[in-house]
Order: sequence, then C-alpha cells, then structure tokens
Amino acid sequence: MPAKILDGMATAKQIREEIRSEVEQYVAKTGVTPHLAVLLVGDDPASHVYVNMKKKACLNAGMLSTVIQLPADSQQQEIMDIIKGLNADPQVHGIMVQHPVPKHLDELEILATVSREKDVDGISRDSLGSLMTGEPIFISATPAGIIELIDRYEIPIQGKHAVVVGRSIILGKPVAIYLLNRHATVTVCHTRTRDLGEMTRQADILIAAVGKAEMIKGDMIKDGAVVIDAGYNKVEGRDKDVGDVDYEAGMQKASWITPVPGGVGPMTIAMLLKNTMKAANRAAGLI
Ligand code: NAP
Repeated sequence: MPAKILDGMATAKQIREEIRSEVEQYVAKTGVTPHLAVLLVGDDPASHVYVNMKKKACLNAGMLSTVIQLPADSQQQEIMDIIKGLNADPQVHGIMVQHPVPKHLDELEILATVSREKDVDGISRDSLGSLMTGEPIFISATPAGIIELIDRYEIPIQGKHAVVVGRSIILGKPVAIYLLNRHATVTVCHTRTRDLGEMTRQADILIAAVGKAEMIKGDMIKDGAVVIDAGYNKVEGRDKDVGDVDYEAGMQKASWITPVPGGVGPMTIAMLLKNTMKAANRAAGLI
C-alpha cells in the first residue's frame, strides 16, 4: 500500500488560522500587534524568496513584519548593533536573521546577539543550549515544524528509533535533540557515517536533512517507516524542486511521507509565526 501523505501545506494552513485568531484576541486585549523583524544580509535570491514568504505569512496572520535589508558587504559590528537596537525595542517581539549570511561574517556571533526572549528562530547558542537542557523558550522553526507535523498526525515518537541524516545547527542537530527530549532513540548520520543505508534502514522515523537531491533511495528505507524529507534541492533540467528522498520509491516503502514541496517547508513558516506569537504573549506577561 502506498504511503500516506503528511500534508505540511494543509497542516500549516490550519496552524496559521489558529494563530490569526490568537493575534486578533491579543490585539484586542493589549492594543499591541505582534511584530517580527527579519534581517536579510546580502542578495542571495533564495533568501529573498524565503524572507518575502515570511513577511507575507506574518501580514496574513495579522502580525507586523519589518524586513531590514542590508548590503552584502555589511560589517559584523553594524549588524550586531542593529540587533541590539531590536532587542531593546518593545515594539519588536521576534527577531530572525535569514540564514546564510555572507561568508565574511561570523554567523554564530551575530545570532548570539539576539536576545533569548526574541530568538523566535531558536538558533542562537543560548536557545540551542536550552534545547539541550530541555527548557527551551523557542525551538528552531524547522525542527519544531517537523515535530509538530508528526504530532498533528498523532504519530507516536516515544520509544521509536529516529535516524536523522544531517547535523547542521539549524536542522539536523536540533531535530535530533528534540526527538531525544521526546524519548525517541536517536541516531545522527553525516558525511563520515560508514554505511548510511544500514543506519537509515533501522529508522522507524527517518529525517532527511542533507541537501542532496534524492540521495535517500527506496532500499535505504525500512518498510512502514515515517519519512520526513526536509531537503529542498534544485535540479537542473527539472521544473520542480525535489527533496533528499526519492519520493516515488519512498511512497512504496514508507507508511507516512512528506512531499516536497508541501511538507516541511510550510511548517517552518507556521512555526516561526507560532514562536512570534509566543514571544508577544511572554512580553505582555500573558504566559
Ligand atoms: P547543511 O548545513 O549543508 O548540512 C547538511 C548536512 O548533511 C551536514 O551535516 C552533512 O554532513 C550532511 N551530509 C551531506 N552529504 C551527506 C551524505 N552524502 N551522507 C550523509 N550526510 C551528508 O544543510 P542544512 O542547512 O541543514 O539543510 C539541509 C537541507 O534542508 C537543504 O536541502 C535545505 O534546503 C533544507 N532546509 C529546509 C528548510 C525548510 O524550511 N524546509 C529549512 C532549512 C533547511 P557533515 O556535517 O559531515 O558535512
């Protein structure tokens, strides 16, 4: 039987509607509008597309969104000073720095400037550290979106063997820690993993977070696995972007699978809004 679809698009839409009504109630109660500030450094075309999508999603949810666009040759101190200003601005509830920043900048140091109370993208050292200790304020949007999607389909995590392929700080590592916090047994794979297929074939829950088009083949997936494909890859000559998993083959092996597009991507934006709403609620002392 082919796999069932974990529909990130429909789930994210539902979450955005929930947030929209929460924003309405919040504005009525406080007279303040939840506000996300996004810093975009440089002119990476994909980053511009993502930032526009985030801005549109904020506006649709009734939130404010300010995009601060800075030239590619911006200096570290200049960016950190802007973030410090946003930290101190009571009208701003969430701050995110669009990844990646130009190579001459120290991204981790920039992210470390975002205050913990406003780090709605959840990838500063502080936020990642608090995920490790099991007491995060904000969980990084993509890992949070992945777990929220699994939860909304009522797929159990506890006691399952989750295999995460990829160990970036924005995705692989935090999703692995989050799964561990949720009592999965977790294996993390990367470029030095010896027999990747042997690892992935053990996964009850397989998370692909690599950035290599269709590298997870059908014979690397256990029958009945839950397959979450966070990858998003452009392939020359193909009009549709593809994930890290060979989707057609995955459909024949998995019990559940996320499509690309329409799986993890929309969930990431929904979780960014959810985190911004949470930041606004915390700022108003409502939670
Ligand atoms: P990244 O920083 O490039 O990290 C890729 C990870 O994959 C690294 O840990 C790398 O291992 C591992 N890897 C690469 N080739 C591998 C191989 N052949 N076998 C095993 N592991 C391998 O990428 P990222 O930022 O985490 O993003 C990963 C993918 O997710 C990309 O396609 C990106 O577009 C997508 N993404 C989607 C969203 C969303 O909202 N949907 C958000 C973020 C990212 P090493 O550590 O050993 O180098």
